[in-house]
Amino acid sequence: MPQQPQQPQQPQQPQTPRTPHTPASPHLDFDPEALRARYRTERDRRIRPDGRAQYRTTSGEFGSYDEDPHADREFTREPLHDRVEAVVVGGGFGGLLAGARLRQAGVESVRVIEKGGDFGGTWYWNRYPGIHCDIESYVYLPLLEEIGYVPRWRYAPGEEIRQHARAIARHFRLYDDACFQTQATELRWKEGEEGEKGEGEWIVGTDRGDRIRARYVVVSSGTLSQAKLPGIPGIETFKGHTFHTSRWDYAYTGGDANGGLTGLADKRVALIGTGATGIQVVPHLGADARHLYVFQRTPSSVDVRGNRPTDPEWARSLRPGWHRHRRDNFLKVVTGVRGEEDLVNDGWTSSAWLQEKLIPTNAYAHIPAEERERAYEIADFQKMNEIRARVESTVEDPETAEKLKPWYRYMCKRPTFSDHYLQTFNRPNVTLVDTADTHGVERITETSVVVGGVEYEVDCVIFATGFAVGVSGLVSGQLPAYGRGGVALLDRWKEGGPRTLHGFCTHGFPNLFQLGSLQNAAAVNFVHVLDEQATHIGAVVAEARRRGARYVEPSAEAEEAWVATIREKAPDQYRFHAECTPGYYNNEGRPRQRSEQFGDGPVVFHELLARWRAEGGTEDVLVDPDQGRLP
Ligand code: NDP
Repeated sequence: MPQQPQQPQQPQQPQTPRTPHTPASPHLDFDPEALRARYRTERDRRIRPDGRAQYRTTSGEFGSYDEDPHADREFTREPLHDRVEAVVVGGGFGGLLAGARLRQAGVESVRVIEKGGDFGGTWYWNRYPGIHCDIESYVYLPLLEEIGYVPRWRYAPGEEIRQHARAIARHFRLYDDACFQTQATELRWKEGEEGEKGEGEWIVGTDRGDRIRARYVVVSSGTLSQAKLPGIPGIETFKGHTFHTSRWDYAYTGGDANGGLTGLADKRVALIGTGATGIQVVPHLGADARHLYVFQRTPSSVDVRGNRPTDPEWARSLRPGWHRHRRDNFLKVVTGVRGEEDLVNDGWTSSAWLQEKLIPTNAYAHIPAEERERAYEIADFQKMNEIRARVESTVEDPETAEKLKPWYRYMCKRPTFSDHYLQTFNRPNVTLVDTADTHGVERITETSVVVGGVEYEVDCVIFATGFAVGVSGLVSGQLPAYGRGGVALLDRWKEGGPRTLHGFCTHGFPNLFQLGSLQNAAAVNFVHVLDEQATHIGAVVAEARRRGARYVEPSAEAEEAWVATIREKAPDQYRFHAECTPGYYNNEGRPRQRSEQFGDGPVVFHELLARWRAEGGTEDVLVDPDQGRLP
């Protein structure tokens, strides 16, 4: 591997040890039992009996929250009744990577079907002021060397990321056949004229009346793509202006993603939600609104950011292979692989050990379970003590500072990073309204947001309330797929749960692939995972083409064996998540008993895929209608 130069002036990330260290009798300057008790109290006061049912989707009565502010609303076109070699559902990074890797596999006609008016997925929809990626851009953005691009910022702004997505689409000619402002509504397998031995293919239906025939279908429609609203009583009665952060209304606020929201100079604004999005938006709203009320239910942990422009000398010094090397290094470091130098050295890598409860890994298996849990809890307390101390030293008003302190374990909620968020509460025009005791905002009237009986009169309500989890694609049933014999995928999975080989494909559903985090491995840098998945699918399709195999379809035995592996290695994270404050990480306080993630983690999973390909694993999936399974 080439030597990788470091960027100068790395910010200090000294705090939590990256890997477990378990001193025999740690000297603690805090009382663990008191912290445990406080965490339990904070959790209990937030738990709601209605769990996920408390939310509303941005459809039906609330459909206006889902309207696309960037696309031509009058757009129409004739339905398509044609044939392509591959349909890719979703034009975010997963779909772009699938399209790119299929092109590299020699597939000529690739049609991406995308709900938005352009490529970009998350980065198409989310353009709110302050939007940045909180993973280092040099490891987050895919295909950097293929495109010949080095990001301009260490943590890239959303617009730079969106433009990179478009550059990928241009580079791999994915605009050629793309269908924008179109949603795939059904996938139906059609056998060829001669039944099983004929040339079967998929018929892809859409909401524009298309019926597109395709040999291959790859679904990558995202897991957090449907915006959600809180089911606050009276939400529909508000007469002022309102929108969700993923559909930012610059026509109303003025300015752009860099701020300058001049339209708010005379407005009282309510922001509801303080997750990763809220943290990025608040500094701009605080700077530009006449008055900003931030309605918080659970405070996020807010750590140091330290963003900076890319050093041009460093960019010039990068050698071929740098991107893969840095990205692999990041993945290894955050999943605890020992002996790795920390090239990225930021808030994610310095808290690697604490992430194990979200992204399972086998890297700490050598430490006895009890000892590991004990040491892990101590490190977690220390990390959260630092986070709380930062609040105290930054926020001037002690009462406000107290409300901004998070009381839960580090990975109960997505960690956030900002050098401007906490500081915003020192402004005289910004008020923090804590809603924990009322389980969120109590009520919305025609003119106000109500908490604890107090009416906060506002001109505008902005919802930074996130996205419904797992409502897109094949797994949710939103895109129904009917395979051989007209069997619905979800019917096939009804008893015994999902069944896949490596998470990508299912017996009875030939040439159908999905990207995501079902029965494979996730990572905090999810785009990296998507690229490994797309690369794998591209390689399998290339092999199918080379061998003349008409179908890629796992044998029932191979699928069975993989499901058994998933079950056998499933991490037991139930207790950890059951003790967390509610949120989408723990299904609003009701964590699922069974994990569908590969327990040994993404590094081992990617190695397993590469070995499977190199050692003839494709035998498990390649089928020819005349010869049956290809040896
Ligand atoms: P989240 O789901 O993380 O946050 C939603 C917020 O709304 C929470 O603070 C929640 O409180 C609050 N909320 C919900 N209902 C109510 C209510 N009734 N009253 C008051 N508050 C309420 O959404 P985000 O948009 O922040 O993040 C969505 C996803 O996008 C996350 O995965 C996030 O990590 C990701 N993201 C990633 C970024 C990146 O840089 N990579 C940047 C921005 C987002 P509570 O916590 O109590 O439920």
